Amino acid sequence: MKFATFGRGGVHPDDRKGLSKDKKIEKLPFPDELIVSMSQHLGAPATPLKKKGDRVERGEVIGSASSYVSSPVHSPADGVVVDVRKVRVPSGAVADALVIKCDETQSDGFKEEFDWKKESPESLLETVKSLGIVGMGGATFPTAVKLSIPMGKKVDALIINGVECEPYLTSDYRLMMERPEEILEGIMAASRIISTSNIIIGIEANKMDAVELLSSLSEKKGYPIKVQPLKMKYPQGDEKQLIKAILNREVPSGKLPLDVGAVVCNIGTTYAIYEAVKFHKPLIERVCTVSGESVNEPKNVFAPIGTKFSDLIAYAGGAKDDLVSLIAGGPMMGFAVADPDTPMVKGSGGVLMLPKMLDDVSFPCVLCGKCVEHCPMGLMPNRMFRNIKYGNYQAAMDLGLMDCKECGCCAYTCPSHLPLVQGFKLGKKLGRMKK
Ligand code: SF4
Ligand code: SF4
Repeated sequence: MKFATFGRGGVHPDDRKGLSKDKKIEKLPFPDELIVSMSQHLGAPATPLKKKGDRVERGEVIGSASSYVSSPVHSPADGVVVDVRKVRVPSGAVADALVIKCDETQSDGFKEEFDWKKESPESLLETVKSLGIVGMGGATFPTAVKLSIPMGKKVDALIINGVECEPYLTSDYRLMMERPEEILEGIMAASRIISTSNIIIGIEANKMDAVELLSSLSEKKGYPIKVQPLKMKYPQGDEKQLIKAILNREVPSGKLPLDVGAVVCNIGTTYAIYEAVKFHKPLIERVCTVSGESVNEPKNVFAPIGTKFSDLIAYAGGAKDDLVSLIAGGPMMGFAVADPDTPMVKGSGGVLMLPKMLDDVSFPCVLCGKCVEHCPMGLMPNRMFRNIKYGNYQAAMDLGLMDCKECGCCAYTCPSHLPLVQGFKLGKKLGRMKK
């Protein structure tokens, strides 16, 4: 078996997946209260359609898409809106949110099956759009926009991202192991929308059981879906690195996968597509890994969107006394969270509790060049950081700041523990403002 990977840069962090890899997905009982942000996706936030005191039904639209790059938001539960207020979402941004007090008994909808194979690609695309499906690997780009191929562009490959290269996270792995038929069906629906039968699932070598399961099932079903095993290397789950690893195509600076004929969808997203086209179920719940050395019982939990991190942590047996850091997402690209009542959003693949701070005390740059050597985008993080530090944002942008994926490889290898990624996030914001 040949293992592919991308060429330039990257790192090999300890994957720490053993804590939750064998923990089957458990369904979280409905919490008393959900906090449903209107900013669940990349692009313009949704416009709230409900006010305090309104009743909501599970699956009902409660926020409408406000522009082309936006996505509707649906109620994850039956209940009553008890508040409409600003909340801080896991990324640290502040957004409008509906606070829903959940009914004690919840409707058990979305059982009726629909034959999506009889539907046109346009109708399937509309289903994906209206049911609020967004990329669930963290980027949360509206999936209908991704699957809308503009006139003049041609797509000849659908890449399915089963890499899950962030340490600790196992939600996609558990979905592949426990819902393989559903995932393959969701992939077939996505391939019908973009009209390609060249479909490749990329999975890293630490998940060989998933490689074998999905490839044998695909063959048995007669699907044109191939599975490509990949060497373990972070950040292989990034679209550009994955396309390089699987298709050996380079996405140029400032361009999209579409520009090299590819569309990339994450595993969790294909499961959401399956539920949308088969049961007309909106994206109202997802699998989230609750893990780290400072949680009592690491788990993979199927939870309603809007569940507070504190409810997930309580379900996982609570935090240990040595808890120091609460992280939304993985340790490489995740966000430190101060408030345990921060709500899950559609992109929340993990909640980590760690006994140490991710950010250490930092020292001056020693010009070792490790950050340059490990940057998968071929950038010069040390020089970009120095320019940002002294307010030379344009100079940092001239060095390719906007191509930075914020993957954290540079910071991971920096012996001086410089806060490189935080610097790049700030530099991008301030650089845009000064333009
Ligand atoms: S965070 Fe940016 S600069 Fe650092 S390694 Fe990743 S892409 Fe390169
Ligand atoms: S890795 Fe850190 S210390 Fe080494 S050159 Fe880059 S910024 Fe400087």
